[in-house]
Amino acid sequence: MNCPYCGHNDSKVIDSRDVNDGIRRRRQCLQCNARFTTYERLQPASLFVTKKDGRREEFDRDKLLAGIRKACEKRPLTSETVDRQADEIEGELYQTGKTEIPSGTIGDMVMARLKKLDHIAYIRFASVYREFEDITTLKEEVDNLAGHSIINSSDQLPLIPPDELAAPEKNPRRLRR
Ligand SMILES: [Zn+2]
Repeated sequence: MNCPYCGHNDSKVIDSRDVNDGIRRRRQCLQCNARFTTYERLQPASLFVTKKDGRREEFDRDKLLAGIRKACEKRPLTSETVDRQADEIEGELYQTGKTEIPSGTIGDMVMARLKKLDHIAYIRFASVYREFEDITTLKEEVDNLAGHSIINSSDQLPLIPPDELAAPEKNPRRLRR
């Protein structure tokens, strides 16, 4: 790892910490003394994705991330939240201990997560991934979600903050004057 400031190829580790599935190291350049951080991620045994048509390709985290990012584009989600979905799915895949995973399984994992996160992102991803056979199937899915959000409407933030509903007069004396 070359120093990002001067390009020198040697540094010392001044702090290291376990983070999720990797190690975060704080380093100091031996030439210019600049400090920088590196993350080491365990590279597990190869994982292959099997396609519907029988083709096999190596699991590509960037491809997974790109698909999730595209679905979440311009949605009110932080990039941290979006990227974490790919990280967690990757982690779950490796934890299965399998060396081959059907592409549909990964798609289902993404959809399950997006469904909880953001319905628009979910529909976008599902329409690409599941290749809805016709517009009726897609509509059914949208209707399902619409019904679902009515049931869970108490989870959503009310338009009027509850404390204003409970106490409409914050300073009643002023009103009596
Ligand atoms: Zn340096």
